[in-house]
Parts: sequence; structure tokens; C-alpha cells
Amino acid sequence: MPDGAKSKLPSSPAFHERGSDLDPVNWPAFRDLAHAMLDDALHHLLTIREQPVWRPQTPQVRAHFASALPRAPAELASVRREFLEFIQPYSVGNLHPRFMGWVHGGGTPVGLLAEMLAGGLNANLGGRDQAPIEVERQVTRWMAELFGFPKDASGVFVTGASMGNFIAVLAARTRILGQDSRAGGIGPAGSRLTAYASRAAHNCIARAMEMSGIGSDALRLIATDAAGRIDLKAAAAAIAADRHRGSKPFLLIGTAGTVDTGAIDDLAGLARMAVDEGLWLHVDGALGALGMMSPELAPKFAGIERAQSIAFDFHKWGQAPYDAGFVLVRDRQAHLETFSSPAAYLSREAGGLAAGSPWPCDFGPDLSRGFRALKVWFTLKTYGAAALGESMARTCRLAQRLAERIDAEAELERLAPAELNIVCFRYRGEPGDEINRDIVVELQESGVAAPSMTTIDGRLAIRAAIVNHRTREEDIDVLVESVLSLGRGRAGRRA
Ligand SMILES: *Cc1c(COP(=O)(O)O)cnc(C)c1O
Repeated sequence: MPDGAKSKLPSSPAFHERGSDLDPVNWPAFRDLAHAMLDDALHHLLTIREQPVWRPQTPQVRAHFASALPRAPAELASVRREFLEFIQPYSVGNLHPRFMGWVHGGGTPVGLLAEMLAGGLNANLGGRDQAPIEVERQVTRWMAELFGFPKDASGVFVTGASMGNFIAVLAARTRILGQDSRAGGIGPAGSRLTAYASRAAHNCIARAMEMSGIGSDALRLIATDAAGRIDLKAAAAAIAADRHRGSKPFLLIGTAGTVDTGAIDDLAGLARMAVDEGLWLHVDGALGALGMMSPELAPKFAGIERAQSIAFDFHKWGQAPYDAGFVLVRDRQAHLETFSSPAAYLSREAGGLAAGSPWPCDFGPDLSRGFRALKVWFTLKTYGAAALGESMARTCRLAQRLAERIDAEAELERLAPAELNIVCFRYRGEPGDEINRDIVVELQESGVAAPSMTTIDGRLAIRAAIVNHRTREEDIDVLVESVLSLGRGRAGRRA
């Protein structure tokens, strides 16, 4: 340690002035700073509405991250200041009530605390006999209850629905090809497999097919109807055509809330088709499935209880902090057969730390894993499923209000039905794509609101996804007024 660093802090020893371990020597000072850092996070949340939704990083901010590997210690207090100055103000902005881009959860103060406790515990949820795994198992049982799955359905926390969908594709693949395919690869039988999802399915489905070794060419993207739902007749025709040419259909994927417009496939219709055709039905419910917590929204998902597997995200509508994806599988045995391995160093015992099999590592590709379950457990216990469901229903009512306001404005045009909490629209004017792109970028850069963009029937749309539980009617009005005023400004400049 350089002498200079010591002399700067005569009264309180630096945290790095310690013996051989990494714990502070001066715990009282550390504790004060820890409390202050928790206050930083709470203050940020408390003042979020007065802040811009998003701030572009300045060149100075970007340059801050160019420094080399720190070899010498620094005061925790100074690293805290760096965080407050260079990181906290420049994140995506999804805490903010007028963040409406993509589909991002808003997080909660309870989630923040649970993350802190999980960090303190530093549990590894890969396996072994420990209460944290009981928490994950309890959340799994709660989800089986929510979705009407059997009591012994299996489930596992993952980063997000991308990984959940991937796990489901692998489970369906193992079921159709047999467990030997894990060692032998997909082989000639695997190269004949085909899967079905709508054109509106999330791109991670195609990537899951790629990563599974079956390939995304084997994913048939089926047309959608006017409401954005998979066309069941077209799906049946595609399955028949594939069988006719010698392919082997194995997997049908429904979406409960498409990423572009929030459309919900006819899940009951898909469930019937899956039974008739002998296919594994998987539901990508990343965005919408947790709507099952709302009695108002649940009927929209009728049929989901008959799926073989469901992937969904607590970090979106569930408002849990990132990341908290989940995959639920009806047939525990099929799930185990896809992932469990008899490695000697992971061998199980009847007692001691190696008891309590099966472990989470038997249900997915991860061995070491964090305690994601805790923030979801805290969230569900503290708020209760009813209040979480009500916050989801409220975002849908706000989306309805937005849709109504758009429909009432001659200068605005709605581009898709608003089934759930997503509204796609645009400002009328030419060239339309350019004007609307400019509006979205300006809205984001001004910090007033952050919708995103998508393309609907080849036309650029302003896409407002109301996911944040903090969003209110006044925020919807700010979005509408801002789009109108920016649109008028653009149109005027062009005239
Ligand atoms: C967000 C989303 C995904 C991907 O989920 P991640 O949590 O980002 O991995 C998949 N499908 C749909 C419909 C989504 O909205």
C-alpha cells in the first residue's frame, strides 16, 4: 500500500487496510457507508419521476470507462461517487413511469432489498441441501398452481425467456429423439424434425432452434390473422405438408403476448392441435403469461394449462429485478431426462450436503447459479399475486386509454389492435417512416418519454409498451401531446 493513500484518511482507516482477507477492518465506517449506499438507491427510486427517462452518455462519461485494470485499491467512497456520477444516471431508464420502450419491468423497492439480501447470502443454487433451493421449489409449486399444471411439474429459474424457450425446445427434442440423442446428437432423425410458431413469434425461438442443432430452417413461421394470432388452419396445413414430404413435426409454439403487438395466440386451439398431432406444445409467455395473476386478464390465456411447457419472465410484467426468467415443464421426468447427468463430483447422498436430489442443475444447463428465486419470493409474498395482477390489468387499461386517444386524433393512426399492454401507432405525414423515427429519437433524447419502434405491415410504428407499474394516465397524456407536437413541428418544417 502506498503511504500516500494512508495519510489521506487519518481518522478512519481505509476499507482496504486489512489483513489477509477482503473484509473491512473498520466495520463501523463500512456500515455507515453501506447504509448511505442503500439510501442512494432509494433516493434514486423516490425521485425517478422528476428525472429524465433517459440521458445519452456524454463523451466524458464514455471516456470514464477507458481506464486500465485497477491494480491498486481505491476508497469505496470514491467508487460509490463514480457510480453516482457515471453509471446511475445513464442506464436505460426502465424504472421511469414514462419508459415505454421494448418490454422492460420497472422493478420495485422490495426487489431491490431482496437482491441485496441474496448478495449477502451469496448462495449457489446449483444444488445441495439448503433452504434457498426450497425457496426455488416453492416458487415452482406456486407457478404450477397459477398455470393449472400438475403439482409435481418441474421448473427452473433462468436468465430470461430466451433461455426458457431454449430449454423447452431441448426438452421437446429429447422427448421425440430419446435420451440417447444427448450423446449421439440429433442424427438423421433429428434432421427431419420440424417446429411451428407464428410469424410474430420472438426471434429467440429461431435462435433456440439454431442452438438445439435442429436449425432454424426447420422452424415454420405461420401466418397470423388480423388480430396478430397464429392462423390455426395455416398451421394445420403446414404440418400436413411436412408430414407428406417425410418430415417429422415435433413442436408447436404458441405466444402469450407477441413482442410487437401483445397478441395472444388461441392457446386452447393450439392445445387441441398439439393433442391431435402428437406435438409438444410450448408457450412463450415471456411478456404476458403472468397476466394469469389477474382475474380480469386470465381468461385471455385459456388453454395455457394444457401446454407441455411455459417460459415467462418475472422481470417484465412481474416487476422483479433483472434477471428472472423461468421455465415450467409439465412432465418432470422429460425435463430431467433432458439435463440430469451422473457426474461423480455431483453425486447425491441420502444425508449431508449432497442430499435433496434432484437439484436445479438437473433441470437446465447451468451448474453455478445465483439466488434469483429470492427476489421473486419476496415480491410474491410482499405484494401478493392479486396486487401484481391488478398492476398488470392497470397497464392494459392505460394501453386502452392510449388507443382511444390515438383513435380520437385525426393526426394519429393506430397500426394494430391493443389486446394487452402494447399500442402501435404513428403520426400521419410523409415520409411517414422518417417522421416517426425522428419523433421517437427526439422523445428519447429529450428524456420526456421512451417508446420504441417496430415495423407493422412494412410501416414503421411508434410502439408504446406499458409495463411499468408506476405509469399513470398523465404519463399517457404526456406521450400523446409530445408526439403530436413533435409531429406538427416536423410536418411544418417540411411544408
Ligand atoms: C422479451 C421476450 C422474449 C425474450 O425474453 P428475455 O427475457 O429477454 O430473454 C421472448 N419472447 C417474448 C414474447 C418476449 O417479449
